[in-house]
Amino acid sequence: MSADLHQIAALRVVGDRQRYTSMRRQLVEMLSSAEHPITIPDILRLDPELAQSSVYRNLAVLEQAGVITRVVTHDEWARFELAEDIGGHHHHLICEECGTVLDVVVPDTVEATLDESLSSLAAMNGFELRHHRLDLVGVCTDCRA
Ligand SMILES: [Zn+2]
Ligand SMILES: [Zn+2]
Ligand SMILES: [Zn+2]
Repeated sequence: MSADLHQIAALRVVGDRQRYTSMRRQLVEMLSSAEHPITIPDILRLDPELAQSSVYRNLAVLEQAGVITRVVTHDEWARFELAEDIGGHHHHLICEECGTVLDVVVPDTVEATLDESLSSLAAMNGFELRHHRLDLVGVCTDCRA
């Protein structure tokens, strides 16, 4: 998976007339190993040698190239993860109290049922459904304690 991941990422970055530098590679590696979308402070905790400004700049390049996406919640921190066509289709559980975001993979049978219902909902409004994004908003284990 890992070699393929960096191959795909490198192709996109180069396609966007940028270089797939070791720092960009490292960021992709971090997002790939994280079990949920992570913030810039999370990245700086993982590698305190990194400078915030360069993390910010390099994430922007990766986002522009379509390698990663930004998950926006109501709190002040954007979270980053691999683009869905690389990392796989999933949904987000968002904690309303602390802003934590967890990835959840919905079972195929449930996805099929969802797509069926959402397609007809879209069709009623003259839309052809291509894909969906659904966030589940609630309170996480830590905040419930
Ligand atoms: Zn929470
Ligand atoms: Zn996610
Ligand atoms: Zn889905």
